[in-house]
Amino acid sequence: MREILIVGAGFAGAVCAERLAARGERARVIDRRPHIAGNAYDEHDAHGVLVHRYGPHIFHTNAKRIFEYLSRFTDWRFYEHRVLAEARGQQLPIPINRTTLNSLYGLELDEAGAAAFIEQARTPREKIATSEDVVLNSVGPELCDLFFRGYTKKQWGLDLSELSAGVAARIPTRTNDDDRYFTDAFQFMPSHGYTAMFARMLDHPNITVELGVDFHDIDRSSFDHIVYTGPIDAYFDHRFGPLPYRSLRFEHEHLPDVDQAQPVGTVNYPNDHAYTRITEFKHLSGQTMSGTSIVREYPTAEGDPYYPIPRPENEALFKRYRELADGEPNVTFVGRLAQYRYYNMDQVVGAALSAVEGMP
Ligand code: FAD
Ligand code: UDP
Repeated sequence: MREILIVGAGFAGAVCAERLAARGERARVIDRRPHIAGNAYDEHDAHGVLVHRYGPHIFHTNAKRIFEYLSRFTDWRFYEHRVLAEARGQQLPIPINRTTLNSLYGLELDEAGAAAFIEQARTPREKIATSEDVVLNSVGPELCDLFFRGYTKKQWGLDLSELSAGVAARIPTRTNDDDRYFTDAFQFMPSHGYTAMFARMLDHPNITVELGVDFHDIDRSSFDHIVYTGPIDAYFDHRFGPLPYRSLRFEHEHLPDVDQAQPVGTVNYPNDHAYTRITEFKHLSGQTMSGTSIVREYPTAEGDPYYPIPRPENEALFKRYRELADGEPNVTFVGRLAQYRYYNMDQVVGAALSAVEGMP
C-alpha cells in the first residue's frame, strides 16, 4: 500500500485523501491549522450560531458530478444567496438588475427599458483585457464608480484596470428582476455545515489526520507521493520572490438583542467603511434563534493568503513556479493556492478529482 502525504485539509486535500483512500492507498493528511476544512471551516459560536471563521462560503455549482460526489458526505439545505450593495444611501441588488436601476434612478423601466438604459450607459470596448474593460463595457462609468471601482480598490488594493478581466467578470449584469447572486443549477449549503462534511470525507481507515503540523517540519523521505495544497511559492522557498496573495481580517460580532441585522445574507459596501461586506450567518444556515452573528471583512496586504491576485505579472511569476512544479513528478500541486487560481469551492473539488484520476 502506498503512503501518500497530503499537505492541507481543505477541499483540495480532503478530496484527494478521500479518493486515494477509496482506491486503496494510505493518506496521511497534515494541516498547520488546528482544524480541518481549510478556509471553508465553520463552527458554532458561543451563542449556537453556525459561523464561517474565514468569511461566508456559499456552495454553488453547475457540475452535477461534483454535487453528487459531495452529496455522499452531507445532506443539503436549499439556499440561494442574495446580496445588496449600498449606493447613494440605498441598499440595492447586486448583480445590477432592473430593480437596481429603477430604485437608483427613480425609474419604472420594464425589461426592454432596462436593456436600453444599460445600452446607452455602457462604454463598448473592443478589447477586454482588464476588469475595468469588463465593467465599463457592461455598465459604463457611473455604475462602475457606484458599485465596482471603490469595492475593488478596497478588496485588492488595486484599481480595476490593474486586475485581469476574470475578477470583475464574476459579476454579471441583468435586465430582469433576478436578484440571486448565483444562477448555478445546484445551490445548497451542507445541512450540518462544512466541517461536518469534511469529517465524514476524512473518516476512513486508510486516512490519518494530524492538525497543527507544518509541512516544513515533516520528513518527506518516507512517502511515496506528496499532494501539496499550500501556496506554491512557499513550497519552493520563494525562490523567485513571493507570489502576491490578498488577505483579509475577519471581525466577528454577536448581536444579542438583534434577531435580523440585515434583509439578506450579505450587504456590500463599495464606497464606505474599511470593510467590503457584512454577512449575517443565520440567512445561510436557516437558524431561527434570537440574537444574530455577523462578520465584517477587512482586506489586508499582510496575513494568511486567501486570494491569488489575477493580473498578468503575477501569472508570469506563477508560471515560473509551475515549471519547477512540473519537474517534481512525485508531488501533485492542487488547490487555490497551489494552482494560483481564483477558484470557487466546486472548482477546487473538480481540480482535486482530476488530479487523483491523473496520478500515477
Ligand atoms: P484552503 O482551504 O486554503 O486549504 C489549504 C490548507 O493547506 C489550509 O488549511 C492551510 O492551513 C494548509 N497549509 C498550507 N500550507 C501548509 C503547510 N506548509 N503545512 C501544513 N498545512 C498547510 N468559494 C465558493 O465556492 N463560494 C464562496 O462563497 C466562497 N467564499 C469565499 C470567501 C472567502 C473570504 C474566501 C477567502 C474564499 C471563498 N471561497 C468561496 C473560495 C474557497 O475558500 C476556496 O475555493 C477553497 O476553500 C479552497 O480550498 P483549498 O483546499 O484549495 O485551499
Ligand atoms: N465586485 C465589486 N462590487 C461588488 C461585488 C464585487 O466591485 O459589489 C468585484 C470586486 O472586484 C470583487 C469581484 O467583483 O473582488 C468578485 O466578487 P465576488 O463577490 O465574487 O468576490 P469573493 O466572494 O470571491 O470575495
